Amino acid sequence: MRRSVIIASLFFAGFSLAPAGRQIVAPLSAEEEPFFGYSLESSRAERQWEEKLRAIPSPDKLRAYMERLSARPHHVGSPYDKDNAEWIAARFKEFGLDTHIEQFDVLFPTPKERAVELVEGGPKFAAKLQEPALPQDPTSNQQAEQLPIYNAYSVDGDVTAPLVYVNYGIPEDYEQLERLGISVKGKIVIARYFHSWRGIKPKVAAEHGAVGCLIYSDPHEDGFVEGDTFPGGAFRPPDGAQRGSVADMPYYPGDPLTPGVGATKDAKRLDLKDAATITKIPVLPISYGDAQPLLAALTGPVAPEAWRGGLAITYHVGPGPAKVHLKVKSNWDRKPLYDVIGKIQGSTFPEEWIVRGNHHDAWVNGAEDPISGMIAVLEEARALGELLKSGWKPKRTIIYCAWDGEEPGLLGSTEWAEEHYDELRAHAVAYINSDSNGRGYLEVEGSHTLERFTNDVARHIADPETKLTVWKRSQLHEIAEAKSAEQREEIRKRADLRIPALGSGSDYTAFLQHDAIASLNIGFSGEDLGGIYHSIYDDFYWFTHFSDTDFVYGRALAQTGGTAVLRLAGADLLPFEFGDLADTVQRYLKELKALSQKMQDDIQERNRQIDEGVFKATNDPKRPLVSPAVEAVPPHLNFAPLENATDALARSAAEYRKALDQANANGGVALSSASLAEVNKMLIESERKLATSDGLPNRPWFKHQLYAPGFYTGYAAKTVPAVREAIEQKQWKQAEDGIGVVARVLQDEAALISAAAAKLSAATVH
Ligand SMILES: [Zn+2]
Repeated sequence: MRRSVIIASLFFAGFSLAPAGRQIVAPLSAEEEPFFGYSLESSRAERQWEEKLRAIPSPDKLRAYMERLSARPHHVGSPYDKDNAEWIAARFKEFGLDTHIEQFDVLFPTPKERAVELVEGGPKFAAKLQEPALPQDPTSNQQAEQLPIYNAYSVDGDVTAPLVYVNYGIPEDYEQLERLGISVKGKIVIARYFHSWRGIKPKVAAEHGAVGCLIYSDPHEDGFVEGDTFPGGAFRPPDGAQRGSVADMPYYPGDPLTPGVGATKDAKRLDLKDAATITKIPVLPISYGDAQPLLAALTGPVAPEAWRGGLAITYHVGPGPAKVHLKVKSNWDRKPLYDVIGKIQGSTFPEEWIVRGNHHDAWVNGAEDPISGMIAVLEEARALGELLKSGWKPKRTIIYCAWDGEEPGLLGSTEWAEEHYDELRAHAVAYINSDSNGRGYLEVEGSHTLERFTNDVARHIADPETKLTVWKRSQLHEIAEAKSAEQREEIRKRADLRIPALGSGSDYTAFLQHDAIASLNIGFSGEDLGGIYHSIYDDFYWFTHFSDTDFVYGRALAQTGGTAVLRLAGADLLPFEFGDLADTVQRYLKELKALSQKMQDDIQERNRQIDEGVFKATNDPKRPLVSPAVEAVPPHLNFAPLENATDALARSAAEYRKALDQANANGGVALSSASLAEVNKMLIESERKLATSDGLPNRPWFKHQLYAPGFYTGYAAKTVPAVREAIEQKQWKQAEDGIGVVARVLQDEAALISAAAAKLSAATVH
């Protein structure tokens, strides 16, 4: 599903860590310097295999794969979804992977009845809810196979009520509505896409008493304001709409009927009425063509400036006089999922697994989402197959996956990661995800234990447009985007680029946040904008006219993913690094303290202004605002346990770095397999330790204590969620409890890292 435009915020700190081993091996040239976690000898061999690997991916093949996989609509349960899975499995087998298809059975509603009508307050109007076929675009006319425009996992409903415009429909918009004196109770809300994952909008609307929710694509973010519309340009045409899931995935993703267990044939299932992730109110997505008459029929206050979109109307908030009839009814069927799983057995450490995946299902034809990522995974598998034929033997087991059912709810990956929970917890070193690809900059998000590793990989990939390394291009891009001289200085000085944390929105979620496996999400983006996300126009015609038209970034993604897999699979010592983790956690702690302080300051200041009569004095009686209420000033929180824990983490990271330097002193780690296996086991455990079996307060499926999707953001990460979200939601007791839990987790992590350092040191021949 992946956000249509990823704006990853990379920040760089002055903290400059001399990468372990580099100074000590100074006499060697950069060419000879062993890779992180490799002995001199194994590094030389690895370098040659990697060069061979990167020469293999072919733009022509990538193009042919895309044409085949996006030729027909291939959503969950469709004939072409199964056909694609079988085709991918056949390719994996042909390439030499030991391949099978794993099937699950999941709840997947498809629409039976849909209606949006303006019944009062304006000219009678019925929404088209239909994207027209275009003569230029040869797959846009496959209507018999296209899923209609809808939001999956909307509850059935038939409601008629006055309409209220709620901007993006996120919590702060409702604070603004309160100031305007407008309630959505008993109303249907209309929200625009963006600024949260879509499922947040009906969730927050229902919490405020709304009875229905429309989500539309405003041309301000997604249409003619951005650029020429399809088919003349890349952007969303008036009748284009965004399908998508609205299940409450920040509560738990995957099959709504089988939380925490694989949705196998005989799995114990919840009754539909007990499935907590289905929306509380009916929801439909509409185009801006369909939204305009509804918005134009609203009166009431003029929308605040930040709420105004790109349509040629004056945006009003309502409520009414527009009265809307909204009807949603679905077939609540179970549908099969086909996950394709292909393995290459490891030679030295077969019990350590490197897992790589991308989804293959789409909302419609899905050339960009997900096929532009899937084809890179296919080319990686082909490249690894070629290496196998020329004698390459990975030390670790490699598992390539093509997930089904990502779009409706991360279904295929979640069910697989739940079904194989124990095995994955015992064996998985890392999971590397991708989901769509375009032109531009390499974006990497993920576990900070792998931050150093991802930088090393990015230094070996050539950018197709500039011929710089993708690392260098990203660094220069960050300098261009930096907001201050200090930031620029940091970017120039710091050895590694920082990676942002993972929230949710793709198949890494279950691996990272449920199974606690170190995870990365990779892809190129930043130069291709467009407006076909989750529409019938996301197809081969669009992609080959407006995106990576010569598939050179597809090749770069295959080179990046392939290099990362190869390097992890071949390392003597796993390339986990804890200085980056400790540094990142220190920053999170600083942010939490600042957030807590800001909450106090803001509430204090507002109370003061209420007292001074500021709100009364500035109220315009012709455009009245409701004065906010006096609020209790938040208490001081005791961050000491977290401060001690982050200090312990920094100390243990330094111990590990010292042990690594010693091990590296004679030119790369050269230890016995037995010692390496012992230390590697502890390194693998380092991500598990960041999770608790009880999980987050009120959402136990999410077990990781550093990273989660925000309960009210959906895509965007909330780091140290048990503390951060409690502060944001003004739950002070929970915040204190969260500090205790996270501090214990970090102390345990520090103890594990110290133990790994001691083991590594003992194994090193001095
Ligand atoms: Zn996707």
